[in-house]
Amino acid sequence: MKAIAVRPGVAGSVHLAELAKPSLRDVSSGRGVLVRVLRVGVDGTDKEINAAEYGAAPQGFDFLVLGHESFGVVEEVGPAVRDLRPGDYVVATVRRPGHSIYDDIGTYDMTTDDTYFERGINLRHGYLTEYYVDDADYIVRVPPGLRNVGVLLEPYTVVQKGLVQAWEIQRRLKVWRPQRAAVLGAGTIGLLATLSLRLRGLTVTTFGRQRAPYLNNELIEMLGARYVSTEDVAVRDAAQEHGPFDVMFEATGFSPLAFESMEVLGKNGVLVLSSVTGGDRKVEIPSDRINLGFVLGNKVMVGTVNANREYFESGVRDMALAESQYPGWLGRLLTHPIRGLENYEKLFEQLINGKNAIKVFCEVAEA
Ligand code: BGC
Ligand code: ZN
Repeated sequence: MKAIAVRPGVAGSVHLAELAKPSLRDVSSGRGVLVRVLRVGVDGTDKEINAAEYGAAPQGFDFLVLGHESFGVVEEVGPAVRDLRPGDYVVATVRRPGHSIYDDIGTYDMTTDDTYFERGINLRHGYLTEYYVDDADYIVRVPPGLRNVGVLLEPYTVVQKGLVQAWEIQRRLKVWRPQRAAVLGAGTIGLLATLSLRLRGLTVTTFGRQRAPYLNNELIEMLGARYVSTEDVAVRDAAQEHGPFDVMFEATGFSPLAFESMEVLGKNGVLVLSSVTGGDRKVEIPSDRINLGFVLGNKVMVGTVNANREYFESGVRDMALAESQYPGWLGRLLTHPIRGLENYEKLFEQLINGKNAIKVFCEVAEA
């Protein structure tokens, strides 16, 4: 079967690879699930892997199959699988457990191991192929009503984990009534974070670079949130006007903004950092002021990567709520469909240069 792969370490090596079709026997516990892939989204991580900045092939392979944002349909299940049936729509989690105590209890997204395994990213093949097999433990059912937007579940879980953790941390406050939130970044993650915070009833200001009007600010305003272009207004000034921010979610991919966020975060506030920044940028920061603000303001900051099954399950419920509260909104994020694995060049071309692209994805097969 066909797959879209890269040779890790070789920039621009994205190509069409040939792979044996997996079988239920690949999972020894009888909990194997064979999934026919329907759609796979691509994002900045895929871009970085193809630029050879990131990613490693599984042992015994000189290529890595890409794709970690999956959506598919179950074709066959092993004898010990009771929770999934052929015909079910599903999304698979990305990370697989290592050896730390966190991995042992199913929170593999919190591993303390140096080596981590992520399908389509590091040491495990991804989903940009025709079929995959995995243990039912890593496969989450999506109701048929969400089949058109199911491919957005994995990116949504990034937001879901960050915010669930933020709320959990804030239980330290005994009474926490967050009112104002800021989201930095208006790409897929920033848009989904805006959605999630609106679903929680907060007043949201979302920052993006581009000046309005464009699709992203329109989508943000459809949610009743405010869009601010950092071309016109500095985060610091916007915080004066629309803050203080009780919750901030950073998703720009530009690390200096993490420090700017620390500076403007409100008292007792929580800042969630989600940008994976592989470079080695250096900036000068007002360290005394930031430190003082954190100490005197009892502030917290938390980093978040990946998501375990729990966040996929609660993410599905949030997406269903989103579809009822803002019907059709999620679907508008799916701006750039590319049909067929063989069109991998076009897929990457759109990922890198796509005009007004929010989510670029491959339509691998029809349901
Ligand atoms: C993925 C996460 C992953 C992270 C780091 C992101 O693009 O969505 O699942 O943990 O990259 O590899
Ligand atoms: Zn991703």
